[in-house]
Amino acid sequence: MLLKKNISLLIIVIIISSCASKHPNYKSASEIDAVVIDAKTSNKKFMPLEHYNPLFVRVNFIFLLDENGEGNFNGKDKEDNESLDRVFTKANKLIDNLKDAKDSTCYTGFDFLSSSKIQFQFKKMYIKDTFARNYLNAKGYSERRRNIGLLTPSKNWYLKDLDHNINDTIQKKGINVYNTMNVPAYEDLVENHSEKGYNTTQGVAISQFPSYSNYTRSSQLHYPNWYTKRLWIEQFYCVKNKTSWKNGQRAFELAYRGLSHELGHSLGLYHSNEYHRTNKCFKALMSQSGRSPRNYIQPTEIGKMHKAMMTSNVIQFVTDDSNYGVPKTIYENENWNFKKLRFYQDIIVNEGQVLILNGTVIFPENASITLEKNALLVLNNATLKTVKNNNFINIIKKKHAKIIKY
Ligand SMILES: [Zn+2]
Repeated sequence: MLLKKNISLLIIVIIISSCASKHPNYKSASEIDAVVIDAKTSNKKFMPLEHYNPLFVRVNFIFLLDENGEGNFNGKDKEDNESLDRVFTKANKLIDNLKDAKDSTCYTGFDFLSSSKIQFQFKKMYIKDTFARNYLNAKGYSERRRNIGLLTPSKNWYLKDLDHNINDTIQKKGINVYNTMNVPAYEDLVENHSEKGYNTTQGVAISQFPSYSNYTRSSQLHYPNWYTKRLWIEQFYCVKNKTSWKNGQRAFELAYRGLSHELGHSLGLYHSNEYHRTNKCFKALMSQSGRSPRNYIQPTEIGKMHKAMMTSNVIQFVTDDSNYGVPKTIYENENWNFKKLRFYQDIIVNEGQVLILNGTVIFPENASITLEKNALLVLNNATLKTVKNNNFINIIKKKHAKIIKY
């Protein structure tokens, strides 16, 4: 008799609990069985889909001028302006119109994406700064020794003060590209019509990889001797090759490939990856070969760039209105575990699924989270913000959906 009573009590308890909610009362987020998405998660998870809108990354092209506002691209020459704009347009076209390399030494997956879903928003800036303009002012640097570390952007390099000043002054930060030069070599070319100095100058550009721990760090790119090269092409390349300045301009504008390559570094790409060694994928954007069309990016590398745009200091440079335009649906329990994370879409947590968020999570201004029937949103020491730093409150709860905060 006593046993019978206990059973009926049990039945009542079960009925009551199933009425309330499908979810037990977890003591902490770690009790919930969910797939963890964190820094170690494969790049595939971050790959955009073919029907996504691109994200826009701000890039400030900073031309450093002498005291007269000359001695570099300075915005006054219409032809030069148009030429630079063509370089920028082509750089964007390149990464939006990729060609499948179909090269198994590069990658063996079948998930080729024809667009990186990234576009750069280039802005030209002109700054008079005779010290910064001349990279020979980098203490200890000499063209003979090629001590490239001294020309590499870092928190200690010779342009650090200028970089701080720029970031303090401008409203919307971008990747800062510094156009410097070897000034004596430039003057030799302009005043003496000699290419001797130019031929000894540094030809490489140097980019900074993203930071996954310092979210307010700047990203800089050093772009030396570009203007000198433009003058050299007109004065020497065209003469040697007996060709028109129009063709010379075309040669100059091939810089779009190198520019996209350098910005690839800014978004986290290396010359090698888990699928191939350095320069072993000829057509890849990140190949160092000057002959490479650089019009292929393997999909997992595209995922790597989007991961940087979601979880590194690059977050700062993506425009406020960037939005994939398609919601992300959570089909299985997921735990997004980052100190700082930026989403670019609405989120739908499917029926009965759990989404755990940690740290600071940033959403587009008008985005929403929809919790379908019985779905659960767990905020584990999480702060939800919009990209304009408002509190994110747009959470739609369907029947029995719940929000838990720890
Ligand atoms: Zn490189």
